[in-house]
Amino acid sequence: MMMELERASAEVDGLRRCMNDLVGLLTLSAMWAGGSFAQIANTLPDALRTMLDVDFLLLRSADGGDGIPSAIARMADAIQFGRSQDIWQALYSTLGESLAAWPQRAVLTLDGIAFSVALLRLGMQGEEGILVAGSRRPQFPSREERLLISVAVNQATVALKEARLLSVQRRLASELDTRVSQRTAELAATNEALRREIAERRRAEAALRDSESNSRLIVDSISGLVAIFTPLGEVEAVNNQFVKYSGLTLEEFKQWATSDFVHPDDLPQVIRDFTKAIGTGEPYDFEARMRRSDGVYRWFQVRGLPFRDASNGIIRWYALLTDIDERRRAEERIRRSEMFLAAGQRISLTGTFSWRIDTDEMTFSEELNRIFEFEDGTAVSINNIVDRIHPDDLAMLTEKMEQVRNGLDNSEYEIRLKGRDGAIKHVRVTANVIHHGDGRLECLGAVQDVTQRRLAEESRDEVRTELARVTRIMSLGTMAASIAHEVNQPLAGIVTNASTCLRMLSADPPNVAGALETARRTIRDGNRAADVIARLRALFRKKAAVVEKTDLNEAAREVVALLWSDLRRGKVDLHVKYADDLPLVSGDRIQLQQVIMNLLRNASEALSSVSDRPRHLVMRTELQRDRNVCLLVEDNGPGFGDQERERLFQAFYTTKEQGMGIGLSVSRSIIESYKGRIWAMANDGPGATFAFSVPAYTQTDIASEAISLAPVHVLRKAERP
Ligand code: ADP
Repeated sequence: MMMELERASAEVDGLRRCMNDLVGLLTLSAMWAGGSFAQIANTLPDALRTMLDVDFLLLRSADGGDGIPSAIARMADAIQFGRSQDIWQALYSTLGESLAAWPQRAVLTLDGIAFSVALLRLGMQGEEGILVAGSRRPQFPSREERLLISVAVNQATVALKEARLLSVQRRLASELDTRVSQRTAELAATNEALRREIAERRRAEAALRDSESNSRLIVDSISGLVAIFTPLGEVEAVNNQFVKYSGLTLEEFKQWATSDFVHPDDLPQVIRDFTKAIGTGEPYDFEARMRRSDGVYRWFQVRGLPFRDASNGIIRWYALLTDIDERRRAEERIRRSEMFLAAGQRISLTGTFSWRIDTDEMTFSEELNRIFEFEDGTAVSINNIVDRIHPDDLAMLTEKMEQVRNGLDNSEYEIRLKGRDGAIKHVRVTANVIHHGDGRLECLGAVQDVTQRRLAEESRDEVRTELARVTRIMSLGTMAASIAHEVNQPLAGIVTNASTCLRMLSADPPNVAGALETARRTIRDGNRAADVIARLRALFRKKAAVVEKTDLNEAAREVVALLWSDLRRGKVDLHVKYADDLPLVSGDRIQLQQVIMNLLRNASEALSSVSDRPRHLVMRTELQRDRNVCLLVEDNGPGFGDQERERLFQAFYTTKEQGMGIGLSVSRSIIESYKGRIWAMANDGPGATFAFSVPAYTQTDIASEAISLAPVHVLRKAERP
């Protein structure tokens, strides 16, 4: 009985303890409410350990999503903590991998000790984990213990589920929060960017408006013409100057590509350049002629620039047209004058040079390079110039250059060059020194190739000498007649005087005084005849002319004496007027007489056609104001017309059947060789006056007396029938 009572009392105690533990477990669930997964998983084994007499308590829970340990072990002091792994391993190897298939009780032997193990799943299939409690007691778990464990496990399962839910909710809420705040931040940033962009755009638009109105102001106030185009190249506006120049309205100008505003010759190129620029957005720059309101085309430089907005898009094209007509014309003038200069140099065989006296730098024109036979691109230097000079003229060139270096400003001389083919070139050099503002001296000059002229002069002189000789021979017949005539008179006088003398001497008594007088006259006539012959011989002799002092009156008198009988035969009434105190002239007396004779003969021949009036011929000499001595031969013959006057002195010009036309031409070359002048004038009345003037003799002429002049020019008329 006692035993039963004791057992009953122990049972009551046991039940009481169990009741207490159950109440404890209920408080646990109140404590778990709102708790975290980890907290629940940790406290469950701890709580059970205080209530149960076990050797180990193991909890393997599902992932709570918040980093809780997946396995928790509570060991009795006798069992090492590290053995929990062995226990799990033994459980898995004995009961298999699937927790759902595990039984609620099992026996596990560790190190030879048998443990009764209670296995309680958290959740129907153990989805929240599994609680393993082991004891050496074979009756474990008792009924109460099972009750406690299952209540604790159920409570824990509910709490864990709630905790999991809560955790998921919290995570979701926090994720949502994060996403909301992220999105809010993003939206705020987008808003700010938009706001900034709008402000920026407004500012840009305002600036554009300002700049456009400024541009318009500027465009109207610049002196050039301005046209504004759309990005596609359509005309949008033009400035006032444009309208004023072109006389076109904006509407009219819009048709520029099909109108005559741009010069038709320039239009195709303008359209090409303009279209290309519109296509590529590249600025353009060209020159073309544009029509002014009065129809005149002027040259313009046209520069087109795109006007871009902040994003670099073209919003307008500005074209500035600058009037460059003057410049173009000046360029054209320069180009033409350069062309003329080059052509002039080529035609006149004249090259030009510049010589920097301080540095000896030489520049030759193209023509001068040609004259010097320098290869293209030769750098001209004093040395290679000297190479081309004829050795005999080198000293002269050196002296001329030295004179320029010593301050001579102008020089003119002729010099010979050695041609590459060995031929000699004659060049005439004319040089002038320029004094530059900075003190530099530069010698500019022209070099003319006069080789052809020299050769022509030489051959002309030869021809002329030959011609003169031929004419002289041709004239010999005439001269023979004239000698016979001129000498006939003194001869007749001599014969008459000689017979008078004889008669006087043979008279009784002899008339000695009379005979003496007639003998003297005989001698005088003899001398006259000799003189006539001497003069005529001299006239036809081939000798070099010399400058001498000549009395022109005296020379003329002798010619008159020679022609006297001819003139009388031609019924020409000759009047002579010799000026008193006429100075001597410098010139060969015979040559001057040839000129006088030619003028007198021409006049007498001109008069031969006159039959309706007396034939008058006047020869006079006079001293002119410029100290030149002049001789004039005036006749009242038929004279000459205006057109003929130009040609009178040309060689071979003649109006006479038997004429040669060289008399006046040779006369001119004689007179000019004495620095004189010969001319012809039509008279107020009928006839013509031919005259020449030569300088009076001066001291300086003495020096040149010895100089040999041009070859003798003999002139005679061809014999007349
Ligand atoms: P030529 O006497 O052989 O014709 P010139 O040279 O002496 O050659 O004269 C050229 C021409 O000038 C003459 O043919 C003549 O037509 C004209 N002439 C010269 N002297 C006179 C003159 N005194 N009156 C009119 N014509 C003249």
